Amino acid sequence: MVDRDTRSRMMSGIRGKDTKPELMIRKALHARSDPFRLHAPAVPSKPDLFLRRYRATIYVHGCFWHGHECHLFKLPSTRTEFWQQKIDRNRTRDAEVEAALRDQGWRRFVISEGALKGKTRLEFENLMNRLCQRLAAGGETGEIAGSVV
Ligand SMILES: [Zn+2]
Repeated sequence: MVDRDTRSRMMSGIRGKDTKPELMIRKALHARSDPFRLHAPAVPSKPDLFLRRYRATIYVHGCFWHGHECHLFKLPSTRTEFWQQKIDRNRTRDAEVEAALRDQGWRRFVISEGALKGKTRLEFENLMNRLCQRLAAGGETGEIAGSVV
């Protein structure tokens, strides 16, 4: 459970325009309890967060850069081919990272930008609840996207 003070700190963190989502999530995980201690083991990529106890990595993905199918992604109308190739490469790398993590027994969770901002943004505590449920439930991968509009 998150107490009122922690919750208000979390909420004010959201409004701070320089606050990175990774940092907010990290703080919220810390505030929750012991199981979410963070460590920095050697994993085949640079996750935004590691949770050793859950053998889990967490990535925060920008919807544009990862070609996410949501309202935050729109292929630019100029230099379209350039952007398409760039995004395709990012997606290929995402798949490679996922496979490499799986090979080493790391689970991979992705939080999409749409869950954090814009019209599909989830209430932060709701997002954290979903994340913690996924972590506890098992499974190799999982994505938390924004709400359906
Ligand atoms: Zn998205």
